[in-house]
Amino acid sequence: DQPQRLSKVLASAGVASRRSSEELIFEGRVTVNGSVCSSPQTRVDPAKDVIYVNGNRLPKSLPPKVYLALNKPKGYICSVGERESKSVLDLFNDYMKNWGKRIPGVSKPRLFTVGRLDVATTGLILVTNDGDFAQKISHPSSNLSKEYIAVVEGEVHKRHLIVISEGTTVDGVHCTPESVELLPNQPGIARHRLRIVVNEGRNHEVRELVKNAGLEIYSLKRVRIGGFKLPSDLGLGKHVELKPADLQALG
Ligand code: URA
Repeated sequence: DQPQRLSKVLASAGVASRRSSEELIFEGRVTVNGSVCSSPQTRVDPAKDVIYVNGNRLPKSLPPKVYLALNKPKGYICSVGERESKSVLDLFNDYMKNWGKRIPGVSKPRLFTVGRLDVATTGLILVTNDGDFAQKISHPSSNLSKEYIAVVEGEVHKRHLIVISEGTTVDGVHCTPESVELLPNQPGIARHRLRIVVNEGRNHEVRELVKNAGLEIYSLKRVRIGGFKLPSDLGLGKHVELKPADLQALG
């Protein structure tokens, strides 16, 4: 392995986020080969260098990269830190508990979501410990299409679809969806369903597009990112590991 920046090694080893790892280093709580190292830029090789954080030895091998697809339930947020809210990462507690059994001796991965879904939105959210991957997928310039099913209240007319397709301003940027389509009604269900595909994925973009057309959203679910579809048999709160072919489909 190539030597990497100390802060990155700590973050990859699941110690803390990159930023918090830098703070630990600045605070003098990290030693490399017996001496305090207070520069996050220092290049280290965890296989050769002996690294201690707060007096605990960092494992020699970093956790492998993990790529998971979660079917997010309603009521969970996609970040950590807000204590009152349930985080989607709580849904991986068992996964983390079982980590040691699966790969003994390797530190646990520090998981985070790739982009975000609103607390009320359900469906596909990717979870990983690979910061470069997360950055690549969630950056607006990736131009990956994201498909949502929006269930709306009331009647849907042609003009609603036209207004949605013309787009709206989100965060000061005019966003137009790649496509919007009224889906056939399901038997016995009065509410209408729209399939909306967007590229940018700005905050609340789909909700803003629908609201701007004068429609009220009853529920919103993401069903696809790029070429990867949420498996239809994946229950709410459940996850699957992405296979190499899935990663390729994500672009
Ligand atoms: N657009 C929204 O409005 N909400 C989401 O959660 C994702 C995209």
